[in-house]
Amino acid sequence: MKVGFIGLGNMGSPMAENLAKAGHEVTGFDLAAPCPDGVRKADTAAEAAKGQDVVITMLPNGQILRAVAEDIIPAMQNGAVLLDCSTVDVDSARAVAEQCDMAGLMAVDAPVSGGVGGASGGTLTFMAGGSDDAFAKVSPLFDVMGQKAVHCGASGAGQSAKICNNMILGATMIVTCEAFALADKLGLDRQKMFDVVSTSSGYSWTMNAYCPAPGVGPTSPSDNDYQPGFAAELMLKDLRLSQQAAESVDADTPMGQSATRLYEQFVENEDGNGMDFSAMLPRFEKRSRG
Ligand code: NAD
Repeated sequence: MKVGFIGLGNMGSPMAENLAKAGHEVTGFDLAAPCPDGVRKADTAAEAAKGQDVVITMLPNGQILRAVAEDIIPAMQNGAVLLDCSTVDVDSARAVAEQCDMAGLMAVDAPVSGGVGGASGGTLTFMAGGSDDAFAKVSPLFDVMGQKAVHCGASGAGQSAKICNNMILGATMIVTCEAFALADKLGLDRQKMFDVVSTSSGYSWTMNAYCPAPGVGPTSPSDNDYQPGFAAELMLKDLRLSQQAAESVDADTPMGQSATRLYEQFVENEDGNGMDFSAMLPRFEKRSRG
């Protein structure tokens, strides 16, 4: 396929490179980052979008996505698909899809799970929103960039699935960390705590696969001084998106709200910026109840 790729940062660059390696004809554009091997460089976003079957965007946020969409939609050919893989707010995803529809284009919102490792290894999970036709058209690209793509529903459904998942992830990480800190103060050995919880009803991905306690469970960022991994500020971004969405539909999300506040405090007022999101454990270790 002829593919335009806009946003060649930590995630976009290896994704574009994998598409080129698989034989797709990829043209890339980024305001700052260089094009990876095999990707032809365009001078503007509109040039990267012109005449392509699919245009992929991998950008920092919804505001930037909306601005880029304004630029590229007039340049895209009739019937082409705008495939946004960024994590953005549900409203922006739906607004861009509507604009595409009015311009005779198709749109898919398909945020990813799997991080930079998944992007490089072509093992991302995509959660997609859009029509059946649009999903079918971009599926061969999902097969190259990822190991799984779930068609979640109409436009915005991909972003909705992503923020619901990450709200669970953020809240679960916090409670896993506070439980380890509580166990420490109760004199309970961390390995014993892991042995019990990982095989009991308190088990979770954060405990079993990404244990925040160094030296316990499978290797995770806690074993590497909490270098990310999945950075606390990216978790905060996703939690804020979850609360923005909850407000827009009047959903009561007290745990999500509380998790957002805690990551906000951690990233903005403590030393959480640049740390893995599991570094909540050393944060709780240092604290007392008051
Ligand atoms: P990044 O900051 O490394 O890359 C974003 C790129 O977009 C940058 O290279 C920047 O120059 C470019 N850009 C910004 N404005 C632009 C514009 N107007 N035109 C063209 N290029 C522009 O970020 P990333 O880590 O690659 O993340 C991209 C998206 O993926 C984000 O929405 C993020 O939330 C999501 N995501 C990231 C991870 C992760 O682990 N990094 C995991 C899952 C999802």
